[in-house]
Amino acid sequence: MNAFRPLGVVVAEPGTVYSSPRESDRYWEVLVDCPETQGIYIYQVPPHLKVQSGDILSVPFGSQQLGAIAIRSTPSLPPSLPPDKVRNVEEIVSAGFFSPTYWELLNRVAEYYYTPLMQVVRVALPPGLLKRSQRRIRLIEPTAVTIDPFLSPASRQLLELLQASKTQDLAWRYLKSKVKGADWGLKALLQRHWVESYLEPPTPSRPKLQKAVTLLVDSLPAEVTPRQQEILGVLRQRGGELWLSELLQICQTSSSLIKALEQKGYVLSEEREVLRRNSGIWQAVDTPKTLTPDQSEALNQITQQTGYGQILLHGVTGSGKTEVYLQAIAPLLSQGKSALVLVPEIGLTPQLTDRFRARFPNQVFVYHSALSDGERYDTWRSTIQGTPQIIIGTRSAIFAPLPKLGLIILDEEHDSSFKQDQPSPTYHARTVAQWRSQLEDCPLILGSATPSLETWATLQQNTRYLSLPQRVYARPMPPVEIVDMRRELQEGNRSIFSRSLQTALAQLQAENKQGILFIHRRGHSTFVSCRSCGYVVECPHCDVSLAYHHTHERATPHLRCHYCNYSQLHPQRCPQCDSPYLKHFGSGTQRVTQELEKLYPSLRIVRFDSDTTRTKDAHRTLLTRFANAEADILVGTQMLTKGLDLAGVTLVGIVSADGLLHLSDYRASERACATLTQVAGRAGRGDDPGRVILQTYTPENPVVEAVRRHEYARFVETELSQRAALNYPPHGRLILLRLSGVDLNLVEQTAQQLANLLDSATAPYEILGPAPATVMRVANRYRWQILLKFPSNTSTQMQILSELKAHCPPAISLLIDVDPMQLG
Ligand code: ADP
Ligand code: ZN
Ligand code: ZN
Repeated sequence: MNAFRPLGVVVAEPGTVYSSPRESDRYWEVLVDCPETQGIYIYQVPPHLKVQSGDILSVPFGSQQLGAIAIRSTPSLPPSLPPDKVRNVEEIVSAGFFSPTYWELLNRVAEYYYTPLMQVVRVALPPGLLKRSQRRIRLIEPTAVTIDPFLSPASRQLLELLQASKTQDLAWRYLKSKVKGADWGLKALLQRHWVESYLEPPTPSRPKLQKAVTLLVDSLPAEVTPRQQEILGVLRQRGGELWLSELLQICQTSSSLIKALEQKGYVLSEEREVLRRNSGIWQAVDTPKTLTPDQSEALNQITQQTGYGQILLHGVTGSGKTEVYLQAIAPLLSQGKSALVLVPEIGLTPQLTDRFRARFPNQVFVYHSALSDGERYDTWRSTIQGTPQIIIGTRSAIFAPLPKLGLIILDEEHDSSFKQDQPSPTYHARTVAQWRSQLEDCPLILGSATPSLETWATLQQNTRYLSLPQRVYARPMPPVEIVDMRRELQEGNRSIFSRSLQTALAQLQAENKQGILFIHRRGHSTFVSCRSCGYVVECPHCDVSLAYHHTHERATPHLRCHYCNYSQLHPQRCPQCDSPYLKHFGSGTQRVTQELEKLYPSLRIVRFDSDTTRTKDAHRTLLTRFANAEADILVGTQMLTKGLDLAGVTLVGIVSADGLLHLSDYRASERACATLTQVAGRAGRGDDPGRVILQTYTPENPVVEAVRRHEYARFVETELSQRAALNYPPHGRLILLRLSGVDLNLVEQTAQQLANLLDSATAPYEILGPAPATVMRVANRYRWQILLKFPSNTSTQMQILSELKAHCPPAISLLIDVDPMQLG
């Protein structure tokens, strides 16, 4: 094989512009991506070709000709690669397939996050993206004559074949098989601009078929059973059409019932072809709403922003941020531009996606890492075609290769799931979005009711502040009642629900209203310990206690590790002292659900956490059931905080705020304040006013006070000055080096060596550690870490950091987490 992988690609000087073609662009780094190989290789560009970043090339690889993407020119060859070993690029198959800035973006990510470019490419693009693409040749000059005496026989033959074909457009592979010397023949035709060469996005080999159910009657027939009536009702409510699988899930029914309806002629069920891009087929019609004065003002400011500019849209919960996004996007689409909307989690996506789809039918696509390769590929394909569209996705969607980008929106921009903790690149979608909107010269909107301190801190510099201080229809913010749980206990209430919350729950049903109960984290605090000797059941592979899981009344209780997923049965007796008094503590969602069932047997409960939403579309199903008033209470974890807009909710109960308030890192207060404010904001978003009951053992905590008074801005100002005093972000900057390995001594030793090395360099950072990670052992790997603290206004780009990996023994893995969110 004659292609060479450049050693440690990367490290270009910051600020290099990769897009401008120069005469000296002789050697190029090229991404080869086919089933057998995926990697970046160096090729030489012959003088008659002008290659630009983002072009699709045809290159020789071993004995094959493969498609490849031009990434960037490289000034010199690595010493290991003699010039006579470098092979030539054969042809530019399709110029400007990606915008050149796209590769500049990926390069920046690679540099900033100390990650090889190939690893960034894997995050950004679906695997094997060129493998199913085909080069085709199309005749563009119909009057081209084959009697031209200067034409070679090969050129003439090619022309004849093209002219004879019905579409005047043929696969290159076919032409090559028919014509001897086709390469040279084609070159002449291309030079005369008689034909063009292009890359056809492949059609999926097997179109995917799926059953859709369509309602055939206008009014609901009276002679069907109530159950059948219900199913027809759901169909009608959803615009008369649903995928069968969706209908079955929403109605919790079987396909035989649908078949019965079909036999009676009420519905039609048929196979339809679907692009695997996760789109529902129903579309309720939706038109732009008349904006409130605040919304109009915000929209005005946004539409005035042409070109790059960062905008913070700070709108209280229920203030109608989404409507502003929708109306900001509408004019772009008609100008032929596209928009990218990033959201924190899939759990939130169905609802938001539905709102976008209803407004812009057939122009909304979903893109996230949970899509199958096929789905990602299909979306990627439609993306690259450049028709105006909206991509909604989670953090990796920031890399969706949309051409003609007109706007990027990060909704709930404060959310920590925009940050990838591992593996590399440990990117933050907000940071990447800032680069991308600069490169594409388009505005970036950061929307939140609880903006991050990072964003808040930029208000003094380059960010425009837009505010929606009121809810739509001037609906009041829900009053927040703080309940001191210490006093509850003193006064003899041992329940996890305060008397106030109990009364409110009892009232819910009487008044036919809905409520939400929030528990911090999934079953995490529900460890099992022995009341006689204090023994705590721990994971044999990690340094954490096992969490108690009990799915329903008669299920066998078992214990599970949330780090490595190890599970075991709940022991009958204490493994240490044989006492039968093993008890579980804490209040996870399961425990709260069981307690609710005991106290209010007739309340209909939906549990919404990572256990119950594991299957595909489960989020959608659970939320739809709740939104259709098929349940009274939604019990859930953090997932509830993410932008749910459920009009029927009047009560929000925060079962215990304390787990959030006492986390031991410098971001704990910010996170607690944001989370509690967001949860509280789920109440009273409909016509009926809401209320919030917040239970805590530390009511005097300033965060609790800020939540009660709905005073987020003031909280942030105080918090910012504290961060500045301690030089924590967003004032200073952090890089966390995480080391892990199976040999504890080796991990510790290496950590110490790296720290010494870092210490010997003249560098602006302060070194904290090395120290064991908060949970030192996970899945039998030991973890140590070193924290680097940079003063404000210094770059975190340092040569010494890019050399660290070379100083680690092979058995130790090192992760460089730039701007870490989790310090543990
Ligand atoms: P946020 O995202 O700021 O929490 P949403 O965008 O979810 O708020 O809006 C809250 C609710 O108000 C939604 O149901 C939305 O449809 C509705 N809404 C938003 N703007 C308007 C408006 N101008 N007129 C009427 N209803 C609106
Ligand atoms: Zn014991
Ligand atoms: Zn474990």
